[in-house]
Amino acid sequence: MAKPNRYPDNWREIANSVKESALWHCAKCNQQCLRSGTSSDLTKSERLKLTLTVHHRNRIPEDNRLENLIALCRACHLSYHNRGQSNISPGQLSLFPDDAMNWETYELLLD
Ligand SMILES: [Zn+2]
Ligand SMILES: [Zn+2]
Repeated sequence: MAKPNRYPDNWREIANSVKESALWHCAKCNQQCLRSGTSSDLTKSERLKLTLTVHHRNRIPEDNRLENLIALCRACHLSYHNRGQSNISPGQLSLFPDDAMNWETYELLLD
């Protein structure tokens, strides 16, 4: 699977450290999310709900300064990208290629 080219090689490392420093809580709704690599009996859709993603505040994926990055659960992340628009389903997230969400979500679905 190809990673979007705009992300640095160590994006996973960067994203993981953002999530670690957020203690795997969403910055918006404070939901406790699943640590990546945690095995569980949850279904994929349940796990997706508990997936923490990393959002670029300025929507520029090359800008990986920690102050530009924020840990958000999937629902909150979607709502950030969904402002002013109606009913965008998770399958339409490729509408936002400027951000890490697709990549992170896709990765989770593969395991
Ligand atoms: Zn949230
Ligand atoms: Zn985002």
